[in-house]
Amino acid sequence: MSLRIAGGCHCGNITFDLDWPADQPQIGRRECGCVFCRKHRAAWTSHADASLVVRINDVANTSPYRFGTATADFHVCRHCGVAPLATCEIDGRLFGIVNVNTFEATDGVSFTTTATDFEGENVDDRLGRRRRNWIPSVRL
Ligand SMILES: [Zn+2]
Repeated sequence: MSLRIAGGCHCGNITFDLDWPADQPQIGRRECGCVFCRKHRAAWTSHADASLVVRINDVANTSPYRFGTATADFHVCRHCGVAPLATCEIDGRLFGIVNVNTFEATDGVSFTTTATDFEGENVDDRLGRRRRNWIPSVRL
């Protein structure tokens, strides 16, 4: 059983369906303190029992943006500027997080908000954390 949440960028170029485990009614909303996320006002969520299907209509109009350790792709729509998700490939498997501020509707969804800041974390710790916490089933 899972709760399906649709989301995407403003113009509809990038859309996703997030299947969230139904026995986890609280969706953790992580307000990241890094400069990129502050500037986008992005708040991220993921769950190790969730899965994510992403559709990109016009790949040429998306821009995977990397910064910092350059281990994650932030998928920014070049048409409307919204960043609905980020992905990270670890050992051939694609992990992901989604921006809860790009959900289409939040009826029946409740959030717990935490502030995060992973500045100063080394790459091994970062990939280990993503492997544990990010959505381990992503189809792009
Ligand atoms: Zn867009």
